[in-house]
Amino acid sequence: MAETSIPFTIEGFYKFIQNGQLMGAVCNKCGKLSLPPKPICTKCLSRDLKWKELPQQGKLLTYTIIHISPKQFQSMTPYVVGIVQLGDGAQLPGMIRDIDLDNVKIGMNLTMEFEKEIISKDWPQWPRYYFKPI
Ligand SMILES: [Zn+2]
Repeated sequence: MAETSIPFTIEGFYKFIQNGQLMGAVCNKCGKLSLPPKPICTKCLSRDLKWKELPQQGKLLTYTIIHISPKQFQSMTPYVVGIVQLGDGAQLPGMIRDIDLDNVKIGMNLTMEFEKEIISKDWPQWPRYYFKPI
């Protein structure tokens, strides 16, 4: 895929997710990583950005168990949403699946998984990712 033609937006981010790639935007001026990407660097306001592929494994930093969810995820409750510390200083929120709620521990190793199936009709029709234990 021609990376230069993909905009530094959530839509761009999900285009890569569709290909099984986790990509963040790195500022060419100050080096700040944005994940999910934003079209302007949040640190120095530069628009001079480039895509960078990020590691898909990391450790769980913090999490919440969701009992009352948005409508489109109701069939999945209760479920876990966490923030994962990936390599290269990136952090990414995501759902954590394929695990008993009682076994979720801060610091556990997780890996990204990409979902082809669309869960809901009303939510943006983007491919989704989630985390699961390694
Ligand atoms: Zn910057």
